[in-house]
Amino acid sequence: MNIHEYQAKELLAKFGVPVPAGYAALSVEEAVAASKKLPGPLYVVKAQIHAGGRGKGKFKELGPDAKGGVRLARTEEEVRAAAADMLGNTLVTVQTGDAGKQVNRLYVTDGVDIAHEFYLALLVDRVTGRVAFVVSTEGGMDIETVAHDSPEKIHTFDVDPATGFMPHHGRAVANALGLTGDLAKQAQRLAGKVYDTFLGTDAAQIEINPLAVTEASGDSGAKLLVLDAKVGFDSNAAFRHKDLLELRDETEEDPQELEASKYDLAYIKLDGNIGCMVNGAGLAMATMDIIKLNGEFPANFLDVGGGANKEKVTAAFKIILSDPAVKGILVNIFGGTMRCDIIAEGIVAAAKEVNLSVPLVVRLEGTNVDKGKEILANSGLAIVPANDLGDAAKKIVAEVRSAA
Ligand code: GDP
Ligand code: MG
Repeated sequence: MNIHEYQAKELLAKFGVPVPAGYAALSVEEAVAASKKLPGPLYVVKAQIHAGGRGKGKFKELGPDAKGGVRLARTEEEVRAAAADMLGNTLVTVQTGDAGKQVNRLYVTDGVDIAHEFYLALLVDRVTGRVAFVVSTEGGMDIETVAHDSPEKIHTFDVDPATGFMPHHGRAVANALGLTGDLAKQAQRLAGKVYDTFLGTDAAQIEINPLAVTEASGDSGAKLLVLDAKVGFDSNAAFRHKDLLELRDETEEDPQELEASKYDLAYIKLDGNIGCMVNGAGLAMATMDIIKLNGEFPANFLDVGGGANKEKVTAAFKIILSDPAVKGILVNIFGGTMRCDIIAEGIVAAAKEVNLSVPLVVRLEGTNVDKGKEILANSGLAIVPANDLGDAAKKIVAEVRSAA
């Protein structure tokens, strides 16, 4: 589960991480009111969508020369103009895909003068099974580009869960950023607090980009501040964090994926034209692979899970068919504890209920498979039976191509 930047910063602030003051706003008037609560003279008006690259993004409705989704403003009029430009419009960034995302919410923050932009992220390293720090002096830009062009500028290390965060981890962050003196101390403290946030919320990822060093002014020295934060949580631990669930913004999620989660179906939308209904993640992956091997692309990943009953199968069919790109469906089910005849009955009932209009290839294997095949054959529906995985993939690809 992902959250908005403003929520991420509020969370980090609770754990003692320094962030600029700011207020979320749902209308132009709220944005102006928010700026009035801030000290000025610089304000930043920021589009709140679950995607990065907003600064360099473009609004569909505004033309190529208009500014992106992160704007600096110095007066009430500039705040008003920036807010009016963004709210309700569609922001396209490198992370949103071509469709972009509608901006329904803004964050108005205290603007700072930036001396340098760093990168700091925490994530779970799947190889070591530990929380890892990723630190770079090259912040503000796409970290993938830095990783590609100058990998030596990215420093990573992980934290032994038996010791937790130690002072030497903080020093490693400060060193990687080339900081000394007071800024090094700030970096050590900040790294520890971000680590606390990560553990305290069962985060899956905390990405701070940029972590800014502000210009020193007057008596106040340079400060380290989190200017942008992307936080995602491990949904397996969601039951431990009822308060965090309230941060969920369902309008930011794919409507079909959201519907699927209500039926406990693991569904991920993909770009192809063959809808897949499979039980078990491994079998689902194999099914997607073999469709590609035969020259077409899967329209989705869908794992109906072990206890696939008629309700689940019907919901799955409806979700698959609500994608206009789907030109055929491949059902690939292994009946283990769930018997093939029960699954076949579910498929027939669901296909009738949704008035299936695209070719359907079904491969069943396992307990009571003959009975299952018989039910499909006698259903009166144009279901194409398949004998094994290879056969199933060839048949659905042929069906889709002949229909095109
Ligand atoms: P992103 O484009 O979605 O990653 O949004 P960010 O919040 O990272 O903002 C993009 C860029 O805007 C940053 O890398 C900064 O260069 C700039 N920016 C953000 N906040 C401020 C600020 O308070 N002052 C100044 N001068 N620039 C800012
Ligand atoms: Mg950023």
